[in-house]
Amino acid sequence: MSLTLLEIAAARLRQPDQLFITSDDGRYFTYGQFWQLAGRLAQTLLTEGAKPGDRIAVQVEKSVEAIALFYACVRAGLIFLPLNTAYTAAEISYFLGDAEPAIFIQSPGKAAPLGVKVITLDDTGGGSFMALAALQDGALVNAPDDAERLAAILYTSGTTGKSKGAMLSVGNLASNALALAKLWRFTPDDKLIHALPVYHTHGLFVATNTVFASGGQLLFRRKFDVNDIVRLFPQATALMGVPTFYTRLLQHEGLTRATTQHMRLFVSGSAPLLAETHRDFFERTGHAVLERYGMTETNMNTSNPYEGERRAGTVGMALPGTEVRVREGGIEVRGPNVFKGYWRNPEKTAAEFTADGFFITGDLGHFDDKGYLVISGRAKDLIITGGFNVYPKEVEELIDAMPGVLESAVIGLPDSDFGEAVTAVVVPKAGVALDEAAIIAALKENLASYKCPKRVIVVLELPRNTMGKVQKNVLRKTYGLPV
Ligand code: AMP
Repeated sequence: MSLTLLEIAAARLRQPDQLFITSDDGRYFTYGQFWQLAGRLAQTLLTEGAKPGDRIAVQVEKSVEAIALFYACVRAGLIFLPLNTAYTAAEISYFLGDAEPAIFIQSPGKAAPLGVKVITLDDTGGGSFMALAALQDGALVNAPDDAERLAAILYTSGTTGKSKGAMLSVGNLASNALALAKLWRFTPDDKLIHALPVYHTHGLFVATNTVFASGGQLLFRRKFDVNDIVRLFPQATALMGVPTFYTRLLQHEGLTRATTQHMRLFVSGSAPLLAETHRDFFERTGHAVLERYGMTETNMNTSNPYEGERRAGTVGMALPGTEVRVREGGIEVRGPNVFKGYWRNPEKTAAEFTADGFFITGDLGHFDDKGYLVISGRAKDLIITGGFNVYPKEVEELIDAMPGVLESAVIGLPDSDFGEAVTAVVVPKAGVALDEAAIIAALKENLASYKCPKRVIVVLELPRNTMGKVQKNVLRKTYGLPV
């Protein structure tokens, strides 16, 4: 099982005319054409002065070229470093300073940062980068193949402190792609709707590499548009999405048993899928969404089964070849999928691994009676109030079940008496007026009083990042200031 990405590519190139990508910009790429494109991009990077081992930082809109750039780096022995398109100039300057890339590729029309070579790329194959690439023939000799070589550095979303660069090897990515392709039964007949961003592990690696490893096709969409997804169902076989995809789809009247008849698999991850969403989706379509769990540092760790029960509210079992354990409530992972450490940060790396080589994920959880992993939150979101531990999820579940409540987030805010005061931020269903005192009173009937919120703040929506994760750090900042 220790194939590298180049070996996987060699298998694909035995059928070079098989379609790999059809893009919503009207272009399509066979595996042969895609590999040739990656070769031209690799030659361009090398011609522009990048040397094996150099980082190539990329902040561009989603395009076929953006993922071809990742494969270009693999082919040339460079390290791909994708950056969220939402990052500001100040954030970019931190990443460029930390990673010291040889080249920074950005969208045309943006102010170029100083001190680094800049090339531009737009979302339809334009920009100075493609003008340079047009001069290349794609006939590149690949860099020496080695599973231990770094393929990418992905910066973590950094909800606590500075964001850190997770170093991922060719072997990390290849082993995970092969494990997922097998577990989720991907074949050359598959057509996966790809509507995720490509600067994050989910869209860049899980969706793209799994299909690449199996010889299937990507129906590549540059943006998530629910109408477009529903329209694609009859020609597609699979969708990978964040929970927001599924809640949006449920609001669309075109989501039916009939329209999803051709689909064989719906996968969700990157944030918790509410058990209610799982059930509603099943009722509407007859499909049980397959939820899996992973993170930037580890690739995918666990998955619900392809065959057998997909349990709502759980993330399933460890992937073959990966070990997952829970120690003192914390989830720990070991296996070929786990990253090589944080870029230029050996202390932080050492602090996040146990003596026997497990990565401490920072997620809390337990295995249920059937051996399925249940995630109960992030260790850093644990609230300690008056010396007692409060697990926000326990409180959130009770609030979410109340009539008139759409969703909630429970956080700890600084408090001179308790250290932290349990605080609930609650979103009502459309048109409902919620009453703070009534919510607290109802909770007191079910919870020890130290777990009950001292305050309930009603808001129209919760802040989420692009992967659909509720940003509790933003809530703590917004509501935690002394009044
Ligand atoms: P990222 O590194 O941005 O992919 O974020 C990884 C984190 O997302 C994990 O550590 C979990 O806290 C969370 N996460 C990913 N998948 C799931 C899931 N299926 N259910 C709950 N949380 C998840």
